Amino acid sequence: MSRIKLLPDSVANQIAAGEVVNRPASVVKELMENAVDAGSSEITVHFRDGGRELIQIKDDGCGMTPQDARMAFERHATSKISSVDDIYTLMTFGFRGEALASIAAVSNLEMHTRDGEAELGTRLEINGGGFAGQNAVAAPRGTQIWVRNLFYNVPARKKFLDKATTESTHIVSEFQRVALAHPEVGFRLWRDDAPVYDLPAGSLHQRVVGIAGKGAKLLEVGVDTSLVRVSGFTGRPQAARQRCREQFLFVNGRFFKSPYFHKAVLQAYEKLIPATVQPPYFLYLEIDPEQIDVNVHPQKTEVKFTNGGAVWQIINAAVRETLAKSGAVPMMDFDGEERLEIPVLGSVGGGVGDYPTLREPAQVRDRGYNPFVEYDHPVGPLDHHPSRYDFVDRRPDDEASEFEYIVSGGDDGQRRFEELSAPKVFSGAVNIGEGYAAAIYGGVFVAVDLRRAREAVLFDRLRTIVGSGHSATQKLLFPERMALSVDDAGLLRDNAGEFAALGFDIRQAGDHAVEIHGSPADMPAEALDEVVYGMLDELRDGVFAGVTARRERLAAVMARSGAGTSAAAARLSEAAIGELLGALAATANPSFTPQGKPVMAEITTEEIRNKLK
Ligand code: ADP
Ligand code: MG
Repeated sequence: MSRIKLLPDSVANQIAAGEVVNRPASVVKELMENAVDAGSSEITVHFRDGGRELIQIKDDGCGMTPQDARMAFERHATSKISSVDDIYTLMTFGFRGEALASIAAVSNLEMHTRDGEAELGTRLEINGGGFAGQNAVAAPRGTQIWVRNLFYNVPARKKFLDKATTESTHIVSEFQRVALAHPEVGFRLWRDDAPVYDLPAGSLHQRVVGIAGKGAKLLEVGVDTSLVRVSGFTGRPQAARQRCREQFLFVNGRFFKSPYFHKAVLQAYEKLIPATVQPPYFLYLEIDPEQIDVNVHPQKTEVKFTNGGAVWQIINAAVRETLAKSGAVPMMDFDGEERLEIPVLGSVGGGVGDYPTLREPAQVRDRGYNPFVEYDHPVGPLDHHPSRYDFVDRRPDDEASEFEYIVSGGDDGQRRFEELSAPKVFSGAVNIGEGYAAAIYGGVFVAVDLRRAREAVLFDRLRTIVGSGHSATQKLLFPERMALSVDDAGLLRDNAGEFAALGFDIRQAGDHAVEIHGSPADMPAEALDEVVYGMLDELRDGVFAGVTARRERLAAVMARSGAGTSAAAARLSEAAIGELLGALAATANPSFTPQGKPVMAEITTEEIRNKLK
């Protein structure tokens, strides 16, 4: 008797299915790409329990006739190619006609679909690859698919699925990739019945901001060469973070991974950011399809480039050029000398420095000050420092309005000054430029680093809050939405108490995003997302000797971001400087920042004598 047997069809199908769908995220990817291929304008994805219990997708695309609906589940059934040659010129994504058959082989699948002409739609049910029924139903135009109990009949595969949070992370990544490749299509993502993303159809810029978050510090990239066109967005140096996940490369509309081109981007940031952090980027290459070799394996995201070296150079140059235009200059050390972040000033009025930022010029002018918000704390210069976005191309009238405001807000500041005046006071403060002031402090001539002064004042206020247990929260008129990695969202959830204790009102907005509804009273609104990211980094990496120590560390991080840049401090009016120094004198430690950097330096009479000899 022969020892070789043919595998039963059902087993063969399950094995083949593993090639196409090896985890819930690949089901999501295949179904989303089918929906895009069907010409949909709105696609909604919902999943439960990391995709194991349910993956549901609804589109408003072309739909299928009853015959096609049935055919679609046959292996190698596709409407997208008819000859092998087509593979090489293919514009659609799925092209092996295997996805639906594979998914149906390892789940309980139900589909409702109706094509434009038909009055009634078709309902179809398949369990573990076995056809379980088809009938007519009322259905909207388009297709809706429910995939339940994925891998229920493949215990080996099911066992190797990671915990639900990991699978969710993968699903969200696949969702982001497809959404970023198709800004012209509206996408929604729900997880466990809660919204994660709602991305209306729009421009690429809107889509990238939808994924990266409103506060994303991004610059536009655009370079056209005869070999390749590179466009998209890349992060400002300040947006770089440890474990940055928002790094996307697309070629001809298709997501791909390339450690090689990743280096091309990173290298452009050399000397701008420390080696421990990475910038977000969203880069789109357009290239003659003859120049690339797309691996047809559905799980693979590699693409081979015939002229990879040249493309590397062009990507690198494109990112470099964008960074140069933005005024980013190399930092010389990374231990927090903000002085070195001072950008080259662009030309006045809508110069190049302005162009790549995502902010509209109108917003640049009001720099986060909201006249409708009632500040329930002393109004001081800290509340109104310009954000990091707008330190280039400032116009004289901006300057004037800022000063005006600070002066008019001076009542409260004056009261605070009187209340808190310590025996040692500053007098005769003058702005001597480049972020320094000269003043007399307790009878001694001192030079003050204004940015560090802000940091020390802010830290002192925050520390008082931590110590008293009474956080002063200022409600934001417009909640700030922040996209987070699933990890960061978890970290934030775990430390919700810390954030609340420091005056944040942060609410979950789906799995992948939060909304900031309120912030510590002294934090400038424009710095909020940076502050939160900084706090998350600190919580992730820090080791603390107790709750108070941890909160003090967080307060220090907040103070650092909230204090803004030296360039911003350099523009303080004399009145604002007077007020700032008044507050500084009242702090517990006016001489040092929480990082231990000196805030001021005494200029001794001996030094003066030496100079004047
Ligand atoms: P492929 O995408 O490689 O053609 P699939 O198994 O993913 O293979 O899909 C098989 C066929 O089913 C597709 O070619 C298409 O004609 C049809 N189809 C799948 N999903 C949809 C959808 N959401 N709307 C309309 N038609 C679809
Ligand atoms: Mg497909």
